Amino acid sequence: KGKAYMFMMRTKQPAGLVSNQLYLTMDDLADQFGNGTLRLTTRQTYQLHGVLKQDLKSVFSSVIKNMGSTLGACGDVNRNVLAPPAPCTDRPEYAECERLAEQLADLLAPQSGAYYDIWLDGEKFVSSQMEDPAVTEARAFNGFGTNFEGSPEPIYGQLFLPRKFKIAITVPGDNSVDLLTNDLGIVVIADEAGAVLGYDLLVGGGMGRTNRNAATYPRIADALGFVAKEDILHAVKAIVATQRDYGRRDDRKMARLKYLVDEWGVPKFRSVVEQYFGKKLQPFRPLPAWEYKDYLGWMEQGDGKLAYGIFVENGRLKGEMKKALRTVIERYELPVRLTPNQNLILTAIDPSWKADILATLTSAGVKDVVDLDSMVRTSMACPALPLCGLAVTEAERSLPDINRRLRALLTGLGLDDLESLVVRMTGCPNGCARPYMAELGFVGDGPNSYQLWLGGSLNQTRLAEAFQDRVKLQDIEKTLEPIFFLYKQRRAPGEPFGDFCARVGSSAIRDYTKGYVAE
Ligand code: SF4
Repeated sequence: KGKAYMFMMRTKQPAGLVSNQLYLTMDDLADQFGNGTLRLTTRQTYQLHGVLKQDLKSVFSSVIKNMGSTLGACGDVNRNVLAPPAPCTDRPEYAECERLAEQLADLLAPQSGAYYDIWLDGEKFVSSQMEDPAVTEARAFNGFGTNFEGSPEPIYGQLFLPRKFKIAITVPGDNSVDLLTNDLGIVVIADEAGAVLGYDLLVGGGMGRTNRNAATYPRIADALGFVAKEDILHAVKAIVATQRDYGRRDDRKMARLKYLVDEWGVPKFRSVVEQYFGKKLQPFRPLPAWEYKDYLGWMEQGDGKLAYGIFVENGRLKGEMKKALRTVIERYELPVRLTPNQNLILTAIDPSWKADILATLTSAGVKDVVDLDSMVRTSMACPALPLCGLAVTEAERSLPDINRRLRALLTGLGLDDLESLVVRMTGCPNGCARPYMAELGFVGDGPNSYQLWLGGSLNQTRLAEAFQDRVKLQDIEKTLEPIFFLYKQRRAPGEPFGDFCARVGSSAIRDYTKGYVAE
């Protein structure tokens, strides 16, 4: 008898849009073929854990035939394109984020028929949408150095990309997508009436690093330039082609676009992109300050309908919550949106359904956002042990208890007034839950041991700084108490914890806290 191989399947949903039909299918698949739970990810997708090898084909074909896809959810290609999960039907710039997310996902999807050969016996499943002519034209365009005519992959060529490639799209001011952590960030620039003028482009963000390898590091994206509306597909293709041809292929740890941007600097990177693009990029348009948004709670959609953003602790849908969500989503045929913070939004709710939806969810123990601890609300952990092969320690299973311990510690120090503390935890330095942007980040560096990062910002625009290696799970209070105490003593009025840590700096915090004696 052969080994019982088990797999994780990840879906792809540009902008986190999930049809009612796909939601119900995924819910069924989790029970029939998975481990009875569904995982929402930081890239607005599902992960289905525990799928046995013999069930893979049934699971994949069910997803594809129910308006889902897994094509390009993993691998050295463009990954799921993020967009704000804003259910604002009256805001054209948000609709543009969704439209462009779908278009870029289409443009950069692998073209080989192997996907359909393997999962659908060669049947090319035709989605309800016709191929977009702009995508066909951009895909076929052979700019400088992109001559893969005759190849099944007109953009990727024979070798695909050196590494995964991540894109996020948003509107000015809305940083619900953690824009700066992506290889390519796109900001929709519209006029006052909402007509799209073009897009600001940012390049070179990325979280992953390797423990004890100083050549690897997290990085936030730099401003590259502005491109007119009609040129966006060609500009994106030019950026992807630059990474394809110049990204390092000799060392996977150094193969992300961020290292190329860092090595070359933005001016050289821009000039090479312009050669592929065939024209100059325009100057980057100034943007207002970023604000972190999570879209939780009840919202007006702008079309008379309501949306309800629900907190899903660490993205794990399970038990009574999973059942209650299925009940209301099925009963009212609701479409759903997955958020970049691993939460979920019920959309297109008629106001007359609100009371029943609330009653059903409340009786299953689903908390409304107003009843959540603010620290829990913004915290995130990746799946880690036992579900991720790269994990060296726990994350998802540990964070709820760590949050409780942190809250108790803060309360004990008289820091109950701390309005927000963004805590993120991962089981390895790959950084899937973007811990390097947190005010307090825990990055697994050994069994029950974490590297501590301090100093990210509430609006997710500043990298944290590594503070201490190998902090054991049981020593978290011992390590953090002096730092919180110092924060209490020296913070400026209203200064968030992350801003304080960034202002004072890790080495000064170390010096100040050396002689700390617990009261
Ligand atoms: Fe990602 Fe590492 Fe967490 Fe696995 S353990 S999910 S690779 S951060």
